[in-house]
Amino acid sequence: MSIFSTEKLEQVLPKIKVLLEERIYPLEKNYLNLPFNEVADELGKIREIVKEKGLWNLHLSESHGGLGFSLVEFGQISELLGTSPYGHYCFNCNAPDIGNQELLLGNASDYIKQTFLEPLIQGKTHSCFSMTEPEFAGSNPVMMATTAVKEGDNYIINGHKWFTTAADGADFAIVMANTNPEAESPYQKASMIIVPTNTEGFHLTRNISIMGEENNGYFSHAEIEYKDCKVPIKNLIGNEGEGFKLAQQRLGPGRIHHCMRWIGICERAFDLMCKRAATRQLSEGVKLGHKQTIQNWIAESRAEINASRYMVLHTAQKIDEVGAKEARMEISTIKFYVANVLMNVLDRAIQVHGALGITDDIILSFWYRHERGARIYDGPDEVHKTALAGKILKNYGLDIKK
Ligand SMILES: Cc1cc2nc3c(=O)[nH]c(=O)nc-3n(C[C@H](O)[C@H](O)[C@H](O)COP(=O)(O)OP(=O)(O)OC[C@H]3O[C@@H](n4cnc5c(N)ncnc54)[C@H](O)[C@@H]3O)c2cc1C
Repeated sequence: MSIFSTEKLEQVLPKIKVLLEERIYPLEKNYLNLPFNEVADELGKIREIVKEKGLWNLHLSESHGGLGFSLVEFGQISELLGTSPYGHYCFNCNAPDIGNQELLLGNASDYIKQTFLEPLIQGKTHSCFSMTEPEFAGSNPVMMATTAVKEGDNYIINGHKWFTTAADGADFAIVMANTNPEAESPYQKASMIIVPTNTEGFHLTRNISIMGEENNGYFSHAEIEYKDCKVPIKNLIGNEGEGFKLAQQRLGPGRIHHCMRWIGICERAFDLMCKRAATRQLSEGVKLGHKQTIQNWIAESRAEINASRYMVLHTAQKIDEVGAKEARMEISTIKFYVANVLMNVLDRAIQVHGALGITDDIILSFWYRHERGARIYDGPDEVHKTALAGKILKNYGLDIKK
């Protein structure tokens, strides 16, 4: 048993593994290259089975129907679920819903919890998170033009967003909009407001085609125009001007979930790479795995994946103990480090498979397309490296912000 494991976790992981092996992996062959909406019904059936088996919402506390796992424990569940692109969705803990659930649980009013959170937790609705705008550098999200202006008991929201993941089919969007343009700090200008997607003026203008792939539904990223969207003031999450504070809270545990999911992908890619190396015949009596370059890739990948897991679980442990704010250095470190390990391992696994590696006959090409974004979303590599180096250099008396 790993030093990060617990008895409670050891009871649950085998049950998840059985569902993955018997119900979820078999779907991938026929479904992975279809747009999400053509797979949704089949996945919906598995979501029901997950509920029946008492494995629904494993990320939540017992009072909200989960099993009360710590972030360290849930991280390991996330790794296992990450071995299939459908894993998190079937267990109701896919981004962006998981981040939105955690955000609302910690900060929303009773009205919002009842109206928006409860159906989300039950899996009856979907949500999205709408912050990035095409006209501004998302790496510096304080630069944002979307506004929410008070008019009577309502906010009137106008703005243009893109890369709102899973907006297609979502029941509501959590929108970042400037409510306090006069605030002194740029970090106190924006708020998070819930906009139901059936609100007049909510226009999903397109699902953005990515790396040659047209997708829809939960696995898509939308461009949205908000034109005079009128929503009640009671749809505000937390207080006015708290948007960035809440965004930071949302992203801390979210980065653990992503990193552990990437480690799950790495493990599956690693397994495929090793199987291919051990069986692909190059000449009489010589397999791919006899070549030192391939051995190097296997050894380097094993070391990088192991290092990633320990770094991420150590970060999760720190968040469990002292909160995400105190673990910002560790969070930045794992965000860029593990995203790059993911790229390395996927690339090596594809290379070992030769032409087969880039076909849609195996899962590696799907992940290569879908996960390139890992080095960009939730903060590009360069932003996290600057944040980390800045904190380190501060201890040496250098302020890099100057
Ligand atoms: C798959 C995917 C899903 C996403 N989902 C969502 C979502 O659900 N909701 C949402 O609101 N947004 C989402 N985003 C948007 C994401 O948050 C932004 O793409 C990200 O913040 C980067 O912003 P940008 O794309 O505008 O790049 P820019 O800010 O224009 O940056 C471009 C590049 O410049 C470099 N760079 C930036 N800043 C620095 C710096 N300080 N120092 C050095 N180099 C720098 C980096 O290499 C960066 O990649 C998603 C993005 C992707 C790819």
